[in-house]
Amino acid sequence: MNGKVYLIGAGPGDPGLMTMRGMELIRTCDVIVYDYLANIRFLDFVKKGAEIIYVGKKGGDHTLPQEKINDLLVRKAKEGKSIARLKGGDPYVFGRGGEEAEELVEAGIGFEVVPGVTAGVAASAYAGIPITHRSCTSSLAFITGHEDPTKDESAIDWAKISTGIGTLVFYMGVKNLPYIVDKLVSNGRSPETPVALVRWGTTAKHQTWTGTLKNIVEVAEKGNVKPPSLIIVGEVVSLRPKLGWFENRPLFGKTIIVTRARAQASDFLHKLQEMGAATIEFPTIETADPEDWSPLDKALGEARKYDWMIFTSVNGVAYLLKRLKETGRDIRDLAGPKICAIGKSTGEAVEALGIRVDLVPDEYRAEGILESIGDVKGKKILIPRAEEAREVLPDTLREKGAEVNVVTAYRTHRPDARKDELFEAIKNGDADMVTFTSSSTVSNFVSMFSDTEIEEIRKKLRVASIGPITTTTAKKFGFKIDVEPAEYTMDALTKKIVEFYSNAGKNG
Ligand code: SAH
Repeated sequence: MNGKVYLIGAGPGDPGLMTMRGMELIRTCDVIVYDYLANIRFLDFVKKGAEIIYVGKKGGDHTLPQEKINDLLVRKAKEGKSIARLKGGDPYVFGRGGEEAEELVEAGIGFEVVPGVTAGVAASAYAGIPITHRSCTSSLAFITGHEDPTKDESAIDWAKISTGIGTLVFYMGVKNLPYIVDKLVSNGRSPETPVALVRWGTTAKHQTWTGTLKNIVEVAEKGNVKPPSLIIVGEVVSLRPKLGWFENRPLFGKTIIVTRARAQASDFLHKLQEMGAATIEFPTIETADPEDWSPLDKALGEARKYDWMIFTSVNGVAYLLKRLKETGRDIRDLAGPKICAIGKSTGEAVEALGIRVDLVPDEYRAEGILESIGDVKGKKILIPRAEEAREVLPDTLREKGAEVNVVTAYRTHRPDARKDELFEAIKNGDADMVTFTSSSTVSNFVSMFSDTEIEEIRKKLRVASIGPITTTTAKKFGFKIDVEPAEYTMDALTKKIVEFYSNAGKNG
């Protein structure tokens, strides 16, 4: 049986503007076909084994001509595959989605369309321009600016649109800007009409220029405005100073790489995004079950015998709970020992289980705990944690006379990663900062790249580190640290990054 083709609007760039239906299809389709304007971040979500095909389309130099794209869709569908055809913005707004759909119908292949947020709507909103507004416009047109100006006959009725419509949004028009402006003015639109140009709208590279029909050509030349950009013509543009928001956020224009394990990254990603940063999720760590559960099982079986149980990570808590459940136990089996949690979030993870934490040391480093925990002579201490963790804590506790049992609750390893794409982005200046939230994020990150790549990365990226131990590791690999908070939390790290960039002149 033939597969189906889904023509999906991937939105204008900000990955948050993808629809839920589009996302669901990206996760489930066998083949993903995407082009220049579709955000590559969606590729992180494709299913294992999915085939990913880039068909390009930058300005005029089509990587794959439209007929070939059509053939490809038909061929893959005939192989019985489900195909997510991602297109920038909306597939039917200057996206040639109609042509692709016609081909599919002719070849007898089933298809569905998932509309997307078109650039004309999104890029203007992000630039602080409501494309309609009761006080200044009641009509709106999306127009292609791609027309060859030397053509004798225009498919655009300039006389009618120049004065007959309130807001005009031109796609693919920057190259023809002088021609478009000339047509509008010579057909009666006032030269005082406000105009905005928005390039790479809704993304970290979003830029806006404004002027009037009289001077916008000059503004565009000065700003060296290139595609992909929109031209927005109309009184609504004058609302921008009042309604701008996207470009006012403190981390606007910055792209920050987050190297934490995917399972733990979301909170940090969210915090950075709230501040206006674009983020690249690049997990350098993945957690997995220990190879052998028996030391942990044994310890859990006799948890009551311990005086203290020390958790050093959220993962430690999560895996311990998982194992408790798998072995038919529950939190009652943990009654007895006092609980110490290193770090606020580890403490919160324990309390989320309904267990009171007896101690969260003021200082989060292993060394800090020794001061808060008091006399440990003769005390039995259980530490469930990652296999490869540092030995400082158990060693020092032992030196003070404690009987310490360290058991592996989980392992960490380096996941497969889309490192070539990341390196490409870094090289092109499309990323500004990398964040390291543990020593292993640094060493795993470094081991994913070649020496020459790391050298380039060191030159191109600012570096933020969660605390002194991570910093030491990063320095060992030759990184210069730009940001390090006093407190080892994601909140403090985010604040410090904001502070760093708000000294913009210095750090830009
Ligand atoms: N189907 C797309 C449009 C494709 S035509 C949509 O619905 O948005 C390509 C043109 O769209 C570009 O030349 C540019 O004019 C506009 N465009 C697409 N994404 C854009 C963005 N993020 N910012 C500004 N313009 C964009």
